[in-house]
Amino acid sequence: MPRAIVIGAGIAGIAVAVRLAVKGYAVTVLEANDYPGGKLSEIDRDGFRWDAGPSLFTMPILVDALFELAGRNPRDDFNYRRLEIACRYYYEDGTVLDAHADPLRYAAAVEAKLGVPAQVLHRHLQAAQQKYELTKGIFLERSLHRLGNLFKWDVLKALLHLPKLNLTSTMHARNMKKLKHPHLVQLFDRYATYNGSNPYSAPAVLNLIPHLENGIGAYFPVGGMVAITRSLVRLAEDLGVRFEYGRRVSQIILQNGRATGVQVGEEQYSADIVVSNMDIVPTYRKLMPDFPAPEKVLQHERSSSALIFYWGIDRTFPQLDVHNIFFSADYKAEFDGIFGNEGLHADPTIYIHVSSKMESKDAPAGMENWFVMINVPGDKGQDWDAIITESRKRIQTKLTRILGEQVARHIVCEEILDPRKIESKTSSFQGSLYGASSNSAMSAFFRHPNFSGKVKGLYFCGGSVHPGGGIPLCLLSARIVSEMVPAA
Ligand code: FAD
Repeated sequence: MPRAIVIGAGIAGIAVAVRLAVKGYAVTVLEANDYPGGKLSEIDRDGFRWDAGPSLFTMPILVDALFELAGRNPRDDFNYRRLEIACRYYYEDGTVLDAHADPLRYAAAVEAKLGVPAQVLHRHLQAAQQKYELTKGIFLERSLHRLGNLFKWDVLKALLHLPKLNLTSTMHARNMKKLKHPHLVQLFDRYATYNGSNPYSAPAVLNLIPHLENGIGAYFPVGGMVAITRSLVRLAEDLGVRFEYGRRVSQIILQNGRATGVQVGEEQYSADIVVSNMDIVPTYRKLMPDFPAPEKVLQHERSSSALIFYWGIDRTFPQLDVHNIFFSADYKAEFDGIFGNEGLHADPTIYIHVSSKMESKDAPAGMENWFVMINVPGDKGQDWDAIITESRKRIQTKLTRILGEQVARHIVCEEILDPRKIESKTSSFQGSLYGASSNSAMSAFFRHPNFSGKVKGLYFCGGSVHPGGGIPLCLLSARIVSEMVPAA
């Protein structure tokens, strides 16, 4: 049986392990932490439970596919519910708007709250679906770096419909042109943050992202987001995958142009193939320091990072839903602060996720678990302790003003995640959430391929390589890798 080593038990590492085991490989996953999941893990404290990283679950079919591939019924071990409201939006002028899963209710709410005709929203969502359908086969589901993939029918189809992809416009410019109302423009600009990018420079083809949430749906896994990690680890173990925790790989062993194994401390593991789920930058810099790295790829601008306060709240807030956004008044200035040299904006957009509204055991009775996040730049040596203190104050002031309650008084415990900690916990370069940013039309081509063109038997999966970050794309990266590796 050929042997595969996977470096890292992030979601893509676990998914690739499942796929390679089904393909007939003997798979060992070496994970530096003493738990699996990387960003997709959890925090427990004082009777509260929070998902540590991702909170929005889209494209659940990609998780189901792993069970089905192994001949199992996903519903035996993993379940999820579609959210009736994808997100509740709060604006500074007092407007509160629900993005309903039902497009008719969503459009009716947009018409009632913003005075924008329902047709405008319907047309925008249809355009998002069309962009997704035209591009998924090219940019998401296959390697962009294999010549043969360029001569497929869907590439020709996309070329025939090129104007519909709006390649020369930015997300914001397109949203302005089509939606006009500033609140609706801000709502749709926000989808740039779903891959850590800037709507004022990211290409308008990314206006396909709302289709994932509104068309395919926003879901909540039973047991919280961490249930995705847990159920897939169980599936992998059932298939014979061996997980070793507390094992930090220090080197990829290269011999005669081939990856032949990895080094962990004093120990060597030999393998026929090696798949790195570690961020691509430290994979080259730390695990292959003497190998000529693809500098242009590694120096590509990174996606944004996040500052998160996990707050235990001693009462419930009925005015909040599962996902809530409190927009800033000046979105452009906020993104200038994240991607430019302006420093953090004084009025950041705040995201609050309350999983205890779906899973009552995530908080003690009568209480709530708030995951409170703002987007921030990656770690470049800023004074994060000062930023945390200042941001906590700003967030509490804004929430108190909008919710009409002294929020600080209700916080009974707090945990914090900042870009430094994201990097130390997962090896994500600069603590970026989604690998490289998508702030230019060429970004997709600057992501590292899922294979090494120079080292045989070396593959890459996860949010820092093609097709990009976020759970669905990480799962697709694992699929692309498994389709590339030789049959066992
Ligand atoms: P990672 O999660 O990055 O894990 C990599 C693993 O490799 C880690 O466990 C690490 O310890 C291990 N590792 C690294 N180096 C070594 C080594 N040398 N030896 C052994 N092990 C090693 N996505 C969504 O879809 N929806 C969301 O709502 C969402 N929100 C997010 C919010 C936050 C705060 C964060 C941080 C991310 C969010 N994302 C979201 C993005 C999503 O979490 C990531 O894209 C995805 O989880 C990355 O998975 P990965 O497979 O690349 O591995």
